[in-house]
Amino acid sequence: MAFLCSTLQAQLNDPSLLVNRAYINGEWVEADNGATLEVINPADGQCIATIPNLGAEETRRAIAAADASWATWKAKPAAERAGYLERWYQAMLDNVDDLALIMTSEQGKPYAEAQGEIRYGASFVKWFAEEARRSYGETIPCPSNDRRLLTLKQPVGVCAAITPWNFPNAMITRKCAPALAAGCPIIVKPADLTPLSALALAVLAERVGIPAGVFSVVTGQPAAIGQELTGNGTVRKITFTGSTAVGRLLMEESAAHIKRMSLELGGNAPFIVFDDADLEQAVAGVMLSKFRNAGQTCVCANRILVQEGIYDRFAARLVEEVRKLKVGHGMEPGVTIGPLINAAAVSKVKRHIEDALSQGATLLTGAIPDGDSLYVTPTVLGGCHTEMQLAQEETFGPVAPLLRFSTEEQALAIANATPFGLGAYYFTQNMSRSWRVGEALEFGMVGLNTGIISMDVAPFGGIKQSGLGREGSKYGLDEYLEVKALHIGGL
Ligand code: NAD
Repeated sequence: MAFLCSTLQAQLNDPSLLVNRAYINGEWVEADNGATLEVINPADGQCIATIPNLGAEETRRAIAAADASWATWKAKPAAERAGYLERWYQAMLDNVDDLALIMTSEQGKPYAEAQGEIRYGASFVKWFAEEARRSYGETIPCPSNDRRLLTLKQPVGVCAAITPWNFPNAMITRKCAPALAAGCPIIVKPADLTPLSALALAVLAERVGIPAGVFSVVTGQPAAIGQELTGNGTVRKITFTGSTAVGRLLMEESAAHIKRMSLELGGNAPFIVFDDADLEQAVAGVMLSKFRNAGQTCVCANRILVQEGIYDRFAARLVEEVRKLKVGHGMEPGVTIGPLINAAAVSKVKRHIEDALSQGATLLTGAIPDGDSLYVTPTVLGGCHTEMQLAQEETFGPVAPLLRFSTEEQALAIANATPFGLGAYYFTQNMSRSWRVGEALEFGMVGLNTGIISMDVAPFGGIKQSGLGREGSKYGLDEYLEVKALHIGGL
């Protein structure tokens, strides 16, 4: 039986934004066999909705609808496609509070952070509405006068986006806005834990008139839907944000059709504090980078490397700030750390803390999670080293491990000794070091004296096992465009 939480509905200014059906070819649909999945509020364990548990068959229909819509969508002038995006952007801004409430209810993040994510997510729609008009080709000088050579940029074709639960809105808009701007229809498979934010975006897409088939949302079984999206030759591109393990699987599944791939995968961000850092700036930076979304971000500071001369002062100030964080239900005023997404997330955090303590780390503040609650006390661990699990894989929770180092060379060697290469941060006031370290860090994004490295105008993405491609910025549009060389001879 399909279910929607009436209490949540009653809290919304516009209850029609909360839907429990998937959106295919401009229609709101159930699973063919009526199967559903529950959406659980991590703050209290209550079911807030059931959503259709779709499989391969329904996904195939979404792909066929996208394909049917492609010719008309790509033929529209870029300015017209931009118009749809502008209206979608405005619709998101007009509904920030409702979209944020839906997000907090399914994901747990504090309401103010959810509002921030809606604005951040909408910023990509605005940015790519503007970029839609700028997919310029080139003329290339030829070796002889009787020829001309031009490049055209043309849409890739039907795209499919598979997105994670940690940013239920922005990870969708960062993919769909450039796809739509470029002239590609797109099908979204949102995380099964946070589908309601995706469906609310579909309500707004429908409301602003984005044509049927151009934007669809399929909810349900990840593997069945994923295999159809990767195995169906009509889908020309897969764009994925999530774990490296699933990214690798999707790449393997897409190999038969040699699909284009954008992969935004996991990270293991170093956060380096040199002796010559501005202490307050570094503490503020790590608070933002480490504790936003309860530490459940891919660019989260995961290994905090602190030079020996500043180590004690930095540790003391960090502990002071961490103790000010307020853990609780995301809708409670003043809460800065919500629950983790599920029990598996808590047990990973617990395993990391226990492993570190067993290898000699010191609990400077915080606690070992008790395992029954999704609420985790923000924790700082001193005396950590590179052999600990928390230094080797992303913890994805509010745990800050401090690793002491003595020289710049040593810090760089530790920072780069990871198969991941997404975000990295360093704090120094020394100009030569600023250049040296910025160039030597093997990561797709590097923050110098800042804990924030994601915004619409900047290229976002990783190297090594953190992925392929870039989102946001002018580069984000290229991911959805093919370059065609047009040779003109006989002149
Ligand atoms: P996940 O890989 O478990 O899931 C991501 C998406 O893949 C979800 O929609 C899920 O339902 C789907 N999925 C899972 N198994 C699948 C399968 N067999 N076939 C098709 N789809 C499948 O990741 P998550 O737990 O949702 O997200 C956390 C991870 O995402 C972390 O590793 C984090 O670092 C990463 N992440 C990366 C970025 C980035 O931009 N690089 C941003 C956010 C999160």
